Amino acid sequence: MSAAPACVEPDYPVSRLTTVGTGGPARFLARPGTGGELAEVLRWADAEALDIAVVGLGSNLLVADEGYDGVVLRLAGELARIERDGDRVVCGGGASLAAIVKRATGWGLSGIEFGCAIPGTAGGAVRMNAGAYGGELRDVLERAVVVGAGGERAGGPEELGMRYRHSNVGAREVVAEAALRLRPDEPERIRATVAGMQRRRREAQPAKVRTFGSVWKNPGGELSAGRMLEECGLKGFARGGARISPVHANFIENAGGARSADVIALMQEARRRARERFGVELEHEVQMLGPIGLEMPA
Ligand SMILES: Cc1cc2nc3c(=O)[nH]c(=O)nc-3n(C[C@H](O)[C@H](O)[C@H](O)COP(=O)(O)OP(=O)(O)OC[C@H]3O[C@@H](n4cnc5c(N)ncnc54)[C@H](O)[C@@H]3O)c2cc1C
Repeated sequence: MSAAPACVEPDYPVSRLTTVGTGGPARFLARPGTGGELAEVLRWADAEALDIAVVGLGSNLLVADEGYDGVVLRLAGELARIERDGDRVVCGGGASLAAIVKRATGWGLSGIEFGCAIPGTAGGAVRMNAGAYGGELRDVLERAVVVGAGGERAGGPEELGMRYRHSNVGAREVVAEAALRLRPDEPERIRATVAGMQRRRREAQPAKVRTFGSVWKNPGGELSAGRMLEECGLKGFARGGARISPVHANFIENAGGARSADVIALMQEARRRARERFGVELEHEVQMLGPIGLEMPA
């Protein structure tokens, strides 16, 4: 194997990089801090036929207990910067939404307040078209730069195929930059909106527990995935160290020592019951890394 770029380290416990805190190690972790370093890592991984995956804040990610036999990328330095350009905020894919909301508020720029409820990065939010409280990334994204081993492409919500919790950003692509088009407003008013959203969040979702946000996409009918699973009697249902949140049935908590296999077992049970009771095939929102999936034996 050729020498790895300097920002690469072997055998890294990815559970440290996810909010739910389960799963095994990655064969390599890369922390590129510039576009040049990112390109170097992608070229190296491509030449070595290694799979790659980006981890943002790991807030919608379930890693296999066996780990990930590839390169996990964590964007740092310039690739996590946040800058103002008139009414735009231009940020690296690794910038956290919390930091973007804070900076935009200080600059008197409105439109990304909903990001205060989403504990992820700009890149993860573009890839997932993350949203909350009636706002979605596609509403404010002007243009994102997406890099792969073969070069880069840039586009807005149309080109990136952004719809409900989906985009066409591929598994081997990296959202390196996002430009958000915002509008001027009074910082005090923006602050009040953010505070209101944070309050609503605290009231509705489990707090101070390890989760990865919504397990399932809402199926689109009258009932949300969470309400369906609540009606199936699944609140508090546990397997190993994982349990379906007693507060909100569309969340799974690591209640202590959970393995990803425990989470998968709960997801399989939830999907089975939703199918039986409502005839609905739930589609998971959480992204998976490594040899893991819902078709595995429970
Ligand atoms: C308490 C809690 C509340 C949440 N509430 C919401 C909510 O209200 N609305 C909502 O939409 N989501 C919510 N989430 C889920 C999650 O925060 C979002 O999906 C978020 O966009 C994930 O961003 P991330 O950077 O952490 O991505 P990760 O979880 O690290 O990764 C998610 C996917 O994006 C990919 N990815 C990450 N960064 C990049 C990049 N730079 N380039 C290419 N691909 C990338 C990963 O490979 C993976 O496929 C919540 C999660 C938690 C824990």
